[in-house]
Amino acid sequence: MPLDMGKSAVIIGGGLGGLFTGAILSKEGIDVTVIEKNAILGGGLQSFVRFGEVFDTGMHVIGGMQPGGNIRRICEYLGVFDKVHIKDVDPETTDTLYFAEDKKSYHISQGKTEFVNALSKDFPAEKENLTAYVDALYNIVDELDMFYLKPSADFIFVHSEEFMMAANDFISKYIRDPKLCNILAYMNPLYGGKKNMTPAYIHALISVLYINGPSRFAGGSYLFANTLRDCIIENNGKVICGDGVKAITTEDRMVTGVRTEKGSEFTADWYISAIHPCTLFKLMEDPSVFPKAYRNRLNEIPNSYSAFTLNIKLKPGTFRYINHSAYYMSRYDNIWSFDDPQKEWPLGFLYMTPPEIGQGEFSTKMVITAPMTWDEVKKWEDTKVGHRGKEYEEWKAECAEKLISRLEELYPDFRDCIEAINTASPLTIRDFYAVKEGSMCGYSKDCNNITLSQVPVVTKVRNLLLTGQNCNVHGFCGVPLTAINTCEVILGRNYVINKINNL
Ligand SMILES: Cc1cc2nc3c(=O)[nH]c(=O)nc-3n(C[C@H](O)[C@H](O)[C@H](O)COP(=O)(O)OP(=O)(O)OC[C@H]3O[C@@H](n4cnc5c(N)ncnc54)[C@H](O)[C@@H]3O)c2cc1C
Repeated sequence: MPLDMGKSAVIIGGGLGGLFTGAILSKEGIDVTVIEKNAILGGGLQSFVRFGEVFDTGMHVIGGMQPGGNIRRICEYLGVFDKVHIKDVDPETTDTLYFAEDKKSYHISQGKTEFVNALSKDFPAEKENLTAYVDALYNIVDELDMFYLKPSADFIFVHSEEFMMAANDFISKYIRDPKLCNILAYMNPLYGGKKNMTPAYIHALISVLYINGPSRFAGGSYLFANTLRDCIIENNGKVICGDGVKAITTEDRMVTGVRTEKGSEFTADWYISAIHPCTLFKLMEDPSVFPKAYRNRLNEIPNSYSAFTLNIKLKPGTFRYINHSAYYMSRYDNIWSFDDPQKEWPLGFLYMTPPEIGQGEFSTKMVITAPMTWDEVKKWEDTKVGHRGKEYEEWKAECAEKLISRLEELYPDFRDCIEAINTASPLTIRDFYAVKEGSMCGYSKDCNNITLSQVPVVTKVRNLLLTGQNCNVHGFCGVPLTAINTCEVILGRNYVINKINNL
């Protein structure tokens, strides 16, 4: 980098990316200020209380928290792991999948052998193919030093052909049965998967994390946001909520300061944008500090689809707690069609009973997340939270009804368990997180043009860095790894990785 290591950093955005970046930098002695526009910290880690229950907004299933897991090791390095409340899912059934088309259910198990054995019960002729497929998933992930928190070598890395294959082609390279091919793609909504577009490495990363064992936050994901906040404050950093950055000033391709909505001004040696790049461009007083080609490219990268969420408060003692996630799918051949606005919604959804700390036999709530395209809400795009009108409220009620009636196919008395409901649409996600089109996972990755969606953490503005889900891989398992990349621009190559490995 052209700059000597600075001693202070302002981080714009207090989501998963901003908080991990702030926690790492403050631990390493940088004077950190995190600025979050919402009154509640956390971005996708935010929870809210409705009907007396805590509902999480964008972090329902997490990976990398098993012993030796990458995110767990980062938490151990930060000294926060002991403060995190997580509940591992049932290893024998990490997920169940139900296909309405033939009313058939499948279950997925934790561990390479168990994963193969569980699916081989329904597809015995594919057992060898499944073993080869799972080995191939792990081989792809082995190509990513960062996944295993290995120091990266100082040369240009060339990836295998499979790494950049379309995920659906990768699956069908190993598996013959078309039904099984679709079953193996069941978790593509977790990464905004698109047919012939999403690279195999994204599919492999998420699949391996879940084969290794998923977990869930107990008591609400906001507790994790608060743990990272406390870590920053203990390291003498500051976390400001409820005052978004309104303007960023620059001079000679350097940021000179940020101004907030409430009129406060902050200066630092480094500025880190942990928000969507398209949102960042709107904050620059002089957008031309970024080359036009760069701005055009980032503005035009397609975003992953969004989601509609139904939060349900359950009547006490009526619905048993399920210690895993469950998927409902209308048809097998719809598995790669979540981005198709022509298909009748909902094609499928993920439902779960989030755990409490000290979870008992019955659940107090259920969350249903159904992928949804922006087209469904486009006609209300100019409206604001709380003022979207009667037609919008009626439409949301219809969406909720569709989800409840699908769930009744599996649980005929489910309606009787409902005490109250609350819904969130792609507009809610857009307005709360300030992400374009309410995208669930940020920029879509395209295996046909991988450079289009590659967003380096360094920018042409020399003291402005990027972090968050749009730079590399989204979610709980991707964003903290990118936070390390961003911090190492300031701290030095492999600085954090070596510290984690030397623990
Ligand atoms: C419905 C849904 C379900 C999901 N489920 C899962 C899941 O189960 N597991 C998983 O791993 N991932 C899941 N994800 C994805 C995950 O939530 C994201 O990948 C992750 O939270 C992104 O983190 P981030 O820090 O990049 O962005 P964000 O969490 O969006 O953080 C950005 C922050 O910047 C703030 N901000 C924006 N503009 C400004 C400004 N001008 N000034 C100050 N602050 C600003 C925003 O308010 C926000 O808090 C889900 C996402 C959605 C939408």
